Amino acid sequence: WIPSNIWVGVGQMTERQVTFELAPIYKKVNVDFHQAKGLSIHPEGGDGHDRPFVTVEYTDSARAGQTESIEYDFLVNATGPKLNFGATPGLGPETGYTMSVCTPSHALEANAQLQENIAALKAGERRTFVVGTGHGMCTCQGAAFEYIYNIDHALRETGVRDRARLVWISNEFELGDFGMGGVHITRGGYMTSSKIFAESLMVERGVEWITRAHVTRVEPGKIHYELLDGTYHELEFD
Ligand SMILES: Cc1cc2nc3c(=O)[nH]c(=O)nc-3n(C[C@H](O)[C@H](O)[C@H](O)COP(=O)(O)OP(=O)(O)OC[C@H]3O[C@@H](n4cnc5c(N)ncnc54)[C@H](O)[C@@H]3O)c2cc1C
Repeated sequence: WIPSNIWVGVGQMTERQVTFELAPIYKKVNVDFHQAKGLSIHPEGGDGHDRPFVTVEYTDSARAGQTESIEYDFLVNATGPKLNFGATPGLGPETGYTMSVCTPSHALEANAQLQENIAALKAGERRTFVVGTGHGMCTCQGAAFEYIYNIDHALRETGVRDRARLVWISNEFELGDFGMGGVHITRGGYMTSSKIFAESLMVERGVEWITRAHVTRVEPGKIHYELLDGTYHELEFD
């Protein structure tokens, strides 16, 4: 349950709570479930098949490593996004210097780092947390937008918010774009643009923001970014 990783990233949910076994669910609705990695798609058939087929390699413990061809009439290829930290040197938890909440294991690591920083703040140190979306071409802002408020909340709950600087950095043209040109929210008899909505949330919580930014490179403790107006900047972070 991917969206719940923003709670794993602040220690309010465990990995176990955001993952579940698919097999019993498919069994209940009579779907023949093959827990396997799709390897190739053959829409024209071939290789002894008159009909289209996919080749798969099983990943469940009983058949791990075995391959099979499965014929189909209609195929839905829904393999999700490929995390592209590699587009930005220094970005991402595996080969870079930043955390992520995109997978449960990333979110667990993010929470471990958050707790270490909260301990440092409690000891009287200051910390700068920068949350955002990295590369100028990335389109999904929602998870980061939610996560920054979870961090803000965790810092308030632990009584250390006053020693922390929280900064939002994204490629949105205006705050509240969310990668889709913004939305309008009808509430309490008013229609509010997500720009006003998002700016209000951040002002109320003392969160700074940088928009129209493309992060070009991250090095330990420093983000390099270019703004849409062509200027280059740096931002230090903990
Ligand atoms: C932290 C976070 C919070 C989010 N919050 C929200 C939210 O609040 N609201 C919202 O609408 N969206 C949210 N999103 C976005 C949303 O989670 C994604 O848009 C959605 O999960 C995409 O669904 P999908 O089925 O296309 O891909 P996925 O959910 O990524 O599923 C793809 C599946 O395919 C599997 N797969 C990949 N390759 C293969 C292969 N070769 N063979 C077999 N299987 C394969 C993967 O293991 C995965 O299980 C959030 C995303 C993140 C990271």
